Amino acid sequence: MFDLTPGDISDSDRRIWEEDLADFVPDRVFDAHCHFFQQSHMKEGEKSPRQDIDLARMQEWNQAIFPGRRVNFLVLGSPNLGIDTARHNAFIAEELSRDPGSRAHRLTTPACTPDQIERDITDRGFIGLKPYRIYSVTGDKDHCRIHEFLTHEQLDVANHLGLWVTMHLSRPHGCGDEQNLDDLEEYTTRRYPRIRWILAHCARSFTYWPIRQAVDRLRDMPNIWYDLSAVNDLRPFLTLFTEENIKRIFYGSDGIGATFFHGKYVVFGRCWFPVEPDKRNFGFTHTPERPILSIYEQVLAMRHAADIAELSKDDIEGIFWRNAHEALEL
Ligand SMILES: [Zn+2]
Repeated sequence: MFDLTPGDISDSDRRIWEEDLADFVPDRVFDAHCHFFQQSHMKEGEKSPRQDIDLARMQEWNQAIFPGRRVNFLVLGSPNLGIDTARHNAFIAEELSRDPGSRAHRLTTPACTPDQIERDITDRGFIGLKPYRIYSVTGDKDHCRIHEFLTHEQLDVANHLGLWVTMHLSRPHGCGDEQNLDDLEEYTTRRYPRIRWILAHCARSFTYWPIRQAVDRLRDMPNIWYDLSAVNDLRPFLTLFTEENIKRIFYGSDGIGATFFHGKYVVFGRCWFPVEPDKRNFGFTHTPERPILSIYEQVLAMRHAADIAELSKDDIEGIFWRNAHEALEL
């Protein structure tokens, strides 16, 4: 979808980095939500719009956007219909064998057996699972419940092994959905107490609304963390920074294919959409400034929310890397 290279970083990007972000982003960064992918992982005759991304490319991009920072990753398998899951997971494990400071979650579809999962955890160093709603056994990616794309059999093995699960919630209101909250409450407190959940994209709250509905219940659940990836609006950050335990919040970018483009995830009421002005003929005759990288929009929103919430330097370092280091036992 997005096809920038680090060479496309603009004067407007650089100005925002130098004037607004460089003194906010600490020396170390742990990106708890990013993806690797190669077209060669697709099955015969299948194609994905994703671009090829490996460890070297992620490092190159991160040096371009966060100059001089030491960056490590939690790499998640890339959900695509038509991907060869085994080939893809083998590639991720191989790439990460060269970066001892990074970790990975295994791409997991309902077709993966408990044996395959257990073998990849013990033999290949994966620490968790990356399921996704497009694999729902109901065929409905927009209204499925957690167990419909991460089966009870798989949840059982994840519980047995004490795995992490990065969960991009489905259903129209994400974490603002009562059924999702009931399921998470049942799983964290009773049925699967050893699974540790990272709720992606502020528990899938790209707008102000879902997390405001959910935070009072989520806060009381054990084994819940959040990544901030791809959310470009400061209001969900403000809710998390003021209402949740800061230690449960991880920085994440969603990686090259999702937030390294000039534009942003724009909120319209309670819905959102990635908007790329350069491809929409938007005019900016009133100013020499140009749209900046979506990842910079995210970090700028994090900064504004952190200022309003009066987070300390320690809190901010926690969000950017230390919380993940402690929780993932790196
Ligand atoms: Zn993602």
